[in-house]
Amino acid sequence: MTVGIVGGGIGGLALHHRLRERGVDSVVFEAAPDPGGVISSRVVDGAVVEDGPQRTRLSQPVASLVDDLGLGDAVVEAADAPLYVYRDGRLRRVPFSLREGLSTDLLSLRGKLRLLLEPLTGPPRGDESVEAGLRRMLGAEAAEYVVGPLYGGIYGTHPDEMPMRHSLGRALEKRGVDRSLLVAAARAKLGGTETPPVVTFEDGLGALPQALAERHGDRVRLGTPVESVREADDGYVIATQHGETVVDRAVLTTPGDVTAELLGEVAPGSAAALDRLAYNPLAVVHLESAAPVDASGFQVQYAEPFRTLGVTCTGTLFDRGRRHTAYLGGGRNPELVDEPASTIREVAEREFAELTGVAATAVDATRLRRGMPAYDGTWDALEAVELPDGIDICANYAARAGIPGRLRSAERLAGRIAEGG
Ligand SMILES: Cc1cc2nc3c(=O)[nH]c(=O)nc-3n(C[C@H](O)[C@H](O)[C@H](O)COP(=O)(O)OP(=O)(O)OC[C@H]3O[C@@H](n4cnc5c(N)ncnc54)[C@H](O)[C@@H]3O)c2cc1C
Repeated sequence: MTVGIVGGGIGGLALHHRLRERGVDSVVFEAAPDPGGVISSRVVDGAVVEDGPQRTRLSQPVASLVDDLGLGDAVVEAADAPLYVYRDGRLRRVPFSLREGLSTDLLSLRGKLRLLLEPLTGPPRGDESVEAGLRRMLGAEAAEYVVGPLYGGIYGTHPDEMPMRHSLGRALEKRGVDRSLLVAAARAKLGGTETPPVVTFEDGLGALPQALAERHGDRVRLGTPVESVREADDGYVIATQHGETVVDRAVLTTPGDVTAELLGEVAPGSAAALDRLAYNPLAVVHLESAAPVDASGFQVQYAEPFRTLGVTCTGTLFDRGRRHTAYLGGGRNPELVDEPASTIREVAEREFAELTGVAATAVDATRLRRGMPAYDGTWDALEAVELPDGIDICANYAARAGIPGRLRSAERLAGRIAEGG
């Protein structure tokens, strides 16, 4: 059996690796000249910058891949620096323990007392928005000033527009949080559950897809965009500008609109649904600051009048000098991404200085037209997706977006294919 994998991001490459491990032949078609998809590490003015993800937890699927690829010595652990939310004129530290919770100025005394009632409020409900669910469970202050900005900030979507069933509700269910966030956190603390460290690699996260592509070089076709997937007598034809390859099964790991285009012939109904999935456009600006900022990063509370969604302090986090990465635009200000690069840089510099009190100079800026999946109401369209036998989707809109989640999906699918399922 041969499996054709469309897309050589981390999902497609990990799937290929896990299939080969199980003795299943597969071939990866990647449109770009380099592997990795949204994982994109570069060196700018002597320091590593990431246009996509900055870090991952070294959880089991990541650790096992790092071992397989012999990348252990290149792993760099993140510094344990505080995280902040900008609210009402300054950065305020996010509490991660009971003691920090008592002393934080992110919440009033009333907000803190309301938060303690969370175990009595019932679990997330699929039919409510993340905003409504968090307000009901944690109270308005903790929802608006802590968890809402931290969670919505990851995706660039306002929590009011994220249905629980597509996002936080699903994530909590997968983690076995069936009743209360506070009780689950207390249980984990008392049970001594270790959270895997946050890591990157010396050359950035790109080291992971790069090593995978090198390991499987003979079967990873870079610079080879797939133009269509058609049915054949006994499988599928994957067509590229370099020719056609007949495979027994095809797996698409491409973004929703690309998958829609490629499946237009074999699954027109599903293609129309996938085409509706929204992604948040992002402007990513790498900044060099004039002074150190003792933070791993911060999010900007969404009622604040800034176009910056959040900042990762990569210099502090990974000992990369005074570098920071600012994320602007998202669902809140998508039009910013269409502004000239000079405007985007100038907005990022000005807002960084206003948010932190420290001046910064933009050293590089990139636009991600298709940034994070929005996990908003457009995700209802997934209910209409029904794929023909022999076609699978292994992409971040079908499961969790984070790197560990992408690797888990790849492992599960490889297992299912190898067993003939
Ligand atoms: C800005 C940003 C920050 C993030 N931060 C984090 C983080 O800190 N930690 C974390 O764990 N996760 C983070 N994520 C999420 C995570 O990085 C992604 O969900 C994951 O990398 C997606 O991998 P993928 O392989 O599923 O998709 P992609 O990386 O999108 O790969 C799809 C591939 O398909 C290719 N392709 C497209 N069209 C074709 C075609 N016609 N033919 C062939 N190939 C094609 C693309 O070139 C691409 O390489 C972040 C994501 C973004 C966008």
